[in-house]
Amino acid sequence: MEKEGNRGPVLRDFLAQGTVCEGLIRTLEDGTFVHAYLITGMEGTGKRTLAREMARYLLCRGENKPCGECESCHQVQMDTHPDLLHVRPGYHVSSDIPTDHGKNDIIVDTIRELVGLVSEHGFASDKRIVLMEQAEKMNTAAQNALLKTLEEPPENVLFLLTSSSPGTLLPTIISRCRQIALHPWTDEQVRDVLEKNGFTGDRALQAVHAAGGSIGRALSMAGDESYWESRNKVMEQFLNLKDRSSIYGIASEWKDAKDQGLDMLDTLEDMVRTMLLCHVGQADPGLMAPYPVQFQRMVKEGENRSFLRLLTSIQNARARRLSQVNWQAVLERLMLDIMEEKSKW
Ligand SMILES: [Zn+2]
Repeated sequence: MEKEGNRGPVLRDFLAQGTVCEGLIRTLEDGTFVHAYLITGMEGTGKRTLAREMARYLLCRGENKPCGECESCHQVQMDTHPDLLHVRPGYHVSSDIPTDHGKNDIIVDTIRELVGLVSEHGFASDKRIVLMEQAEKMNTAAQNALLKTLEEPPENVLFLLTSSSPGTLLPTIISRCRQIALHPWTDEQVRDVLEKNGFTGDRALQAVHAAGGSIGRALSMAGDESYWESRNKVMEQFLNLKDRSSIYGIASEWKDAKDQGLDMLDTLEDMVRTMLLCHVGQADPGLMAPYPVQFQRMVKEGENRSFLRLLTSIQNARARRLSQVNWQAVLERLMLDIMEEKSKW
């Protein structure tokens, strides 16, 4: 279930995908949309988000659709709208209750349940929207059951199927749907969307890099203040270490935070990997701007093994964290390793 406040892409962000999405948004605006869509694309392209945004648009009761203010918009976002029927593998329709069979499948019983629900009149609006995630998880019986409804759809019902591997769907299902193929997002497109949402400069650059082509991840990361706070803290304390005397102070500050230590190590590892990627020319050199000058020099002039030594130190700390070794001592050792590597540059 989605949490309100999590900032993901909105309908207009999908305009960056080009003509297919431009056409789709136009049909929503002028009411010429068809009764079934199959949204395809790799992981991270925003299939489910696009389907939800379409639902939000069509169920919105505000002026500027989707307004994001009305009760319908909130309900769609929270997955509680009575006219949005949500189907996902392993669960009953619009429910967190697992089905008895087919833990990872969409089974025929679920489709029968769905068919029963769509033929009822809408509760809150004049339409019902079916959002089916991972449609390829329907087994053959389920697909055949759905096919009958797709062939003779009840009035005012819109089917939004999403799938990252539509090849396993029956051709007859595919031919009943208008296909919307989402492309992997290029870094430029992600940056463009971030900019339109007010994220620029260093933060945008870092989010594009860390999101690895996932538009949802890029946006939620760019807007996640606590992520940036903890990232800056790790950068300041572990990479910007001034001298040996500060090590004890920092380690004692972290000594009661062994649980958060894993996140810290992940962040640190991510930073070193980014340096390595910049070093070998596989990431935007602009990513190095916030890094301490010695590390920037190492990225320019260093050898791969400098970064590998840092990664080994982090992995050792990870292993010792799980052992009986005192956590504060683990941190002190890690910081000494980092200082030693830094001192060479
Ligand atoms: Zn609204």
